[in-house]
Amino acid sequence: MKKKVAILGSTGSIGTQALEVIRQHRDLFSVEVLTARRNAELLIEQAMQHIPKVVVIADENRYGGVRDALARLPVKVLAGMDALSEVVALPEVDIVLTAMVGFSGLLPTVAALKAGKNIALANKETLVVAGELITALARQQGAAIYPVDSEHSAIFQCLAGEKYNSVEKLILTASGGPFRGMTRKQLEQVTCTEALNHPNWCMGNKVTIDSASLMNKGLEVIEARWLFDMEPDRIEVVIHPQSVIHSLVQFTDGSIKAQLGLPDMRLPIQYALGYPNRLPSDFPRFSFAACSTLTFEEPDPGVFRNLQLAFNALRTGGNMPCIMNAANEVAVEEFLNNRIGFLQMSDVIEETMGKTGFIREPSIADYQETDREAREVVRRVLGGRGRKR
Ligand code: MG
Repeated sequence: MKKKVAILGSTGSIGTQALEVIRQHRDLFSVEVLTARRNAELLIEQAMQHIPKVVVIADENRYGGVRDALARLPVKVLAGMDALSEVVALPEVDIVLTAMVGFSGLLPTVAALKAGKNIALANKETLVVAGELITALARQQGAAIYPVDSEHSAIFQCLAGEKYNSVEKLILTASGGPFRGMTRKQLEQVTCTEALNHPNWCMGNKVTIDSASLMNKGLEVIEARWLFDMEPDRIEVVIHPQSVIHSLVQFTDGSIKAQLGLPDMRLPIQYALGYPNRLPSDFPRFSFAACSTLTFEEPDPGVFRNLQLAFNALRTGGNMPCIMNAANEVAVEEFLNNRIGFLQMSDVIEETMGKTGFIREPSIADYQETDREAREVVRRVLGGRGRKR
């Protein structure tokens, strides 16, 4: 019996690599749903190759083009964000890979869990925004959430066969990004092109900027808190520039387990889709001869402030991580468009966290409202500061 897969965000970096994995294992997986925000051309190409039951183009202006291109195939075409929540609940779907960017992943994930579907979670913002609610919903529905993020996949793999109460702490590795070791003074000058040039990983723009600013690691700390039910003070971050150790778990006897491999997202994607089976692959293998040194250093919280902001948001709880996430999404967008400088991103996020209404026990509707309000506050904060460059 093939595992039937829905891929939300199939035209992005994770989505295309997931389809590569599925092509290698056509005997194990079938693609039932593909969705894209606006890349209609690639969505059409993917649909022609995989013949899913349904495709969704979120941008309604591009619906006609996709429908016409696929008119002769047995593929249903839907449009709009609401359709995402519909297609994840289809009876044909066993597992939903959530690979879209940002807050937009939240509602479709809730819909998939309500329908009892397992999730291969690549959209970390879902757990950042509403981790407590999402994990409670998954438990209640008996649905599993398999991590796709490489660090969390590493921890998940290290935890296999271990007992929950034998874990002392989780150690997330971070590459440090292109600006590792820089001073604040140097960071004042860095450009968006430099930030997009990640030394080890080739990823989408949002996560690449988040990596450069260490916000990605902050989001991943929050993600780990909920995925593995671990208190914030038992989660640590260590800089490991080679990105070979993807993360580690320290146990109560002092023993540490690590998961290693080349930085290749197809590996965690395949582990999540294939779980509990480890599937064969012909991905390039790590060579100890070619990489003889693995190094580690402490992150510098004075220079890369986002990591601390994320820990603060997590400890404050309620809708604070949601506020931080919304502020970050806007700040990254502004930086990508050359409207603010690199260091200003943290300033803007911190100020927004202090100025957006706090809710201790938010509902899904509260999260939506918080996301909206925080984006408004960010724009006010940005307006008040004057634009840079
Ligand atoms: Mg990661």
